[in-house]
Amino acid sequence: MSLSGTYDPSNIFAKILAGNIPCAQVYEDDRVLSFMDAFPQTRGHTLVIPKARSRNLFDTDPEELANLIKKTQMIGRAIETAFSPDGIVITQFNGAPAGQTVFHLHFHILPRYSGDEMAKHTSGQMADMEELNTQAALIQAALYNN
Ligand code: AMP
Repeated sequence: MSLSGTYDPSNIFAKILAGNIPCAQVYEDDRVLSFMDAFPQTRGHTLVIPKARSRNLFDTDPEELANLIKKTQMIGRAIETAFSPDGIVITQFNGAPAGQTVFHLHFHILPRYSGDEMAKHTSGQMADMEELNTQAALIQAALYNN
């Protein structure tokens, strides 16, 4: 069953946390990292992950989870300021049958714009890193000016 199981330290987010793979970083503190999704479903699609190792919501310490959702709210507010979307979807998938593809817990923050389609989960096109860094800088400006 995919919900249980051992954390795989070679997953892509573990490599990002270790600094072995680049990311368009939005936010970092001692417990959380946030960066732009490399295959965005909408403009401003952002991920928020804990530094602590867990595969999904169910094998995560509740206190870590509480901190993670607080940071997701904080970054979501900055995304609202940065991009003025008409709505924001927060998603989180547990287990491959549910759609999870990276087995390190994460929340997706997906700004939605009236009239714009949202690409299906995991069917976004790979984004240009420079564009992602520009978007990350806009979110950071909103985070640190508030
Ligand atoms: P999930 O399917 O919920 O596990 O989401 C994993 C997300 O990670 C997807 O939206 C992918 O586009 C995204 N992703 C995969 N590799 C990278 C990467 N190297 N940098 C940033 N986002 C990534």
